Amino acid sequence: MSPKHRSFLSKTMTAIAVAILLISGSTLPAQAVPTIAHLSAAVPAAKNNVAKVKTKANLNMRSGTSTKNKVLRTIPKGKTVPVSAVASNGWYQVKYQNKTGWISNKYVTVVAKRSAPKAPTPKITKTKKVNLWVATKSTVNMRKGAGTSHSVVRSIPKHSAAKATAQAVNGWYKVTYKKKSGWISNKHVITCTKGCQVDTGNYTTNRAGLNDRYFTKSNGADLYSAAGKRLRIGDIPKNSVVYRDVKWEKAGGPVTDWYFVRTQGMDGWMKASALTRKNTAATSNSKGITRKQALKQHNGKLPASMLVAIPWDKEKTLIAAPAVKDLTRLNAAFKKKFGKNLDIDLAYRTLDTQKYYYNELGPYIAAKPGTSNHGWGLAIDVPESYNYSFKGKYYKWLKAHSKKYNWTHRKNLEEFRSNGTRNPYAEAWHFEYNGK
Ligand SMILES: [Zn+2]
Repeated sequence: MSPKHRSFLSKTMTAIAVAILLISGSTLPAQAVPTIAHLSAAVPAAKNNVAKVKTKANLNMRSGTSTKNKVLRTIPKGKTVPVSAVASNGWYQVKYQNKTGWISNKYVTVVAKRSAPKAPTPKITKTKKVNLWVATKSTVNMRKGAGTSHSVVRSIPKHSAAKATAQAVNGWYKVTYKKKSGWISNKHVITCTKGCQVDTGNYTTNRAGLNDRYFTKSNGADLYSAAGKRLRIGDIPKNSVVYRDVKWEKAGGPVTDWYFVRTQGMDGWMKASALTRKNTAATSNSKGITRKQALKQHNGKLPASMLVAIPWDKEKTLIAAPAVKDLTRLNAAFKKKFGKNLDIDLAYRTLDTQKYYYNELGPYIAAKPGTSNHGWGLAIDVPESYNYSFKGKYYKWLKAHSKKYNWTHRKNLEEFRSNGTRNPYAEAWHFEYNGK
């Protein structure tokens, strides 16, 4: 299996947020709008600053804005009534004894005015200072202000981390990402007070341009998806190559005593104290361990004493000790043929890491955890480059010659099945050790 297939599964999610801002053009209650035909238009309430009037005489309240309309009530002299609208002819719409109607403006005095209608206030004015990291759960638009009505500054890809410095009352965060500042919705992020790195979902080889190299000190060293959250994603065997990614560490928020690393085709956080610059792995089977002995171990739980580093491999990839001698012989023949060493992508894989990949990749690509020969260090994956593919010269040679060195490419991993149909489990890169 190969972690490279992770990219096949990565989903591109785009969050689409649509905001509809309904700005009321009037504070008039809907039912207060006159419906009488001859009433051309009520003065918009925005311009109606009359709140209450007091009658100077007994005054008829009518169903419309003229004396031709039906009298609904008579309001006694000296009564103060609330005004809900002003008609274009100046008549007031008032409420009296549970009825709403119109009175002439000639027989009243204005006793209360409305305060001038306020200009629409910006939605978000209050913010509080925060000091945390946010990681995006999907691609998120960074905007000029804390709301979807503001223009987009840029988009922040899924699984990015950004520093947040303020939070608006609606929950949006002010963040800085790649030297640009803006606001992002809190709905699409997770927050961490310390580092906020998340699994990027993108496969990165250990060789991805990084050179700050460490090795794990103990067998089954912990790899976490986020230093703050500490979700454990892998158990890395002792003497495994780990590359510290300082750039990424800074982007996600550095955490004291933790390193953001790439290892075993995964990335995550490790305790700095779990790492060392020195590799102490043997490169030969000096203890004379047999394949049988390795197979007696729990899959993915091989003791460090049974693991050795592949001698010519720059990454010091670990393999079960009994397999190294024949692999070295195979490499010598390969080198004689092609003038270069056999490339190794991975060999031993721990149980937790197998579980991680099984969850990520599914059964077509990853073996059921606890069943893979990688779990006993008795399998290697060569790269998936063209020359190692089914059509490539390295594959063809390995397929024909590896058996001599007790390394085999299984028939059920071939490109086509015996009936000529394409094999969904095909893997050109996977070879297994069947020697002693
Ligand atoms: Zn494999």
